[in-house]
Amino acid sequence: TSKVKSDLEIAQEAKMKPIKDIATQLDIQEHELEPYGHYKAKLSLEIMNRLHTKKDGKVILVTAINPTAAGEGKSTVTVGLGQALNRLDKKAIIAMREPSLGPVMGIKGGAAGGGYSQVIPMEDINLHFTGDLHAITTANNALAALLDNHIHQGNALRIDTRKITWKRVLDMNDRALRQVVVGLGGPTQGVPREDGFDITVASEIMAIFCLATDTQDLKRRLARIVVAYNMDNEPVTVQDLGAEGALTLLLKDAIKPNLVQTLEHTPAIIHGGPFANIAHGCNSVIATKMAAKLGDYVVTEAGFGADLGAEKFLNIKARMADFTPEAVVVVATIRALKMHGGLAKDQLKEENVQALLGGIENLKKHTETIEAFGVPYVVAINRFITDTDAEGEALLSWCKEQGIPVALTEVWEKGGEGGLELAKTVLDVMEKETNQFAPLYDVSDSIASKAETIAKVVYGADGVEFSAKAQKQMKQFEQNGWDNLPICMAKTQYSLSDDQTKLGRPSGFTISIREFRPSIGAGFLVALTGSIMTMPGLPKQPAALKMDVDEDGKAVGIF
Ligand code: ADP
Repeated sequence: TSKVKSDLEIAQEAKMKPIKDIATQLDIQEHELEPYGHYKAKLSLEIMNRLHTKKDGKVILVTAINPTAAGEGKSTVTVGLGQALNRLDKKAIIAMREPSLGPVMGIKGGAAGGGYSQVIPMEDINLHFTGDLHAITTANNALAALLDNHIHQGNALRIDTRKITWKRVLDMNDRALRQVVVGLGGPTQGVPREDGFDITVASEIMAIFCLATDTQDLKRRLARIVVAYNMDNEPVTVQDLGAEGALTLLLKDAIKPNLVQTLEHTPAIIHGGPFANIAHGCNSVIATKMAAKLGDYVVTEAGFGADLGAEKFLNIKARMADFTPEAVVVVATIRALKMHGGLAKDQLKEENVQALLGGIENLKKHTETIEAFGVPYVVAINRFITDTDAEGEALLSWCKEQGIPVALTEVWEKGGEGGLELAKTVLDVMEKETNQFAPLYDVSDSIASKAETIAKVVYGADGVEFSAKAQKQMKQFEQNGWDNLPICMAKTQYSLSDDQTKLGRPSGFTISIREFRPSIGAGFLVALTGSIMTMPGLPKQPAALKMDVDEDGKAVGIF
């Protein structure tokens, strides 16, 4: 048997079409396309004005069960489903997040799909792409610089330097920067204070970037960011510093979505990529909406499993951007279900139907969650070559017994061809089932009640325990007028509970909310359950150490 090709090898062998041709496929006008080289382009926001009255395409969300550390193939299935729909002559566009260099250099390699379902040029997308991450990093750090300068120049806003919540960012995993002291060196070097760095994708500016509906909305949201508290413990905002104009200017090109293509020349819009714990983990609203204007179907994804990604997509993104998702695809893998059934990581490649059926309740819970939102769904079994026929059969027949629409997909191995059954099943449920989509709570519910709804309905918890700090914050937030916002849960992705060792479908547990963080610009309140890392570290063997450029100038080691 021949060696399995790496994602990078497959991507580098692909024959790309010029990006102009992809744009022509979508009837994008010449002045609306801003090429960045031959195979990437930014799309002018004027497209939204031109197509203002056109009916929106149908949005299909790809989510997953609680994943293993390797990921369950959401991006791969997103790309594969888009390709499959195009093979069925449907005008489908993919909308995805931009990768962050932190995980690329650390553990994950790349984040542009896999196998024969990838977006290309894969190296560019994973590296500097069109500079959006740079622009967001710069906007974030410009704000930090303006804030420290304000204090140095006399601190007219009476900012309490012990209560500054705005951090600096870097698009890299760098644990040494988690906690730093800035302003050392005497009176001309600024005012000394404790500070810290987050990874760029954890910046509130990234979350705002992804929820803004246009440039003016971007500016309004940036103005609302709370950066610190003053000596009377009142919030100090970007607007108080007068910085929203400059920040918007720094983002004025980045805010335009990026057009690329898949291995099969399906158009893909890749734009924005916020954290899926302290933020909502979806590509930009502008990208999703533009894709819906340009195509008849949009296939998009949300980070981690359905308990985090889909919950936030449906309760936060769809609500704020005011669109109705038409179908959800829940990706499941046999290896992850076996893990939920109690198998150790090193046993996942061996056939074990009993463990598979033992872990299947995890999948069941996620399908119930999507049902609670009222959106038609399909389970996609993302097939690995190590899966056995007996396991595949067991999972398929379980779904059929439960009346759960299901399709076996082989998009990693076969590209769009391997997703035809999934595409047909998705089209079928969209046609036959009624969509009764509604968010699970009203924003006007109390903070505690919103968190409880998510915990009970989505996680299957008995309830929520709030720490003394969280209780105090809920009162403060009400006084600040921040209680009418959706909740963004920061929770482990590995379990339905807030304890990552509880696999399968845990019951009889409560969720502990330790602290809230107001993301007033983004427009949500982050509820922290465990300790959430906003500046990851590099592993013992970083992926970066295998990266190189060969004699022909080709990238090596991005996977
Ligand atoms: P997620 O979006 O859920 O994090 P990805 O789609 O990024 O997952 O896939 C994670 C990794 O697993 C990628 O390297 C991808 O190539 C690989 N992968 C996904 N599906 C399969 C499959 N069916 N067989 C083998 N490898 C796969």
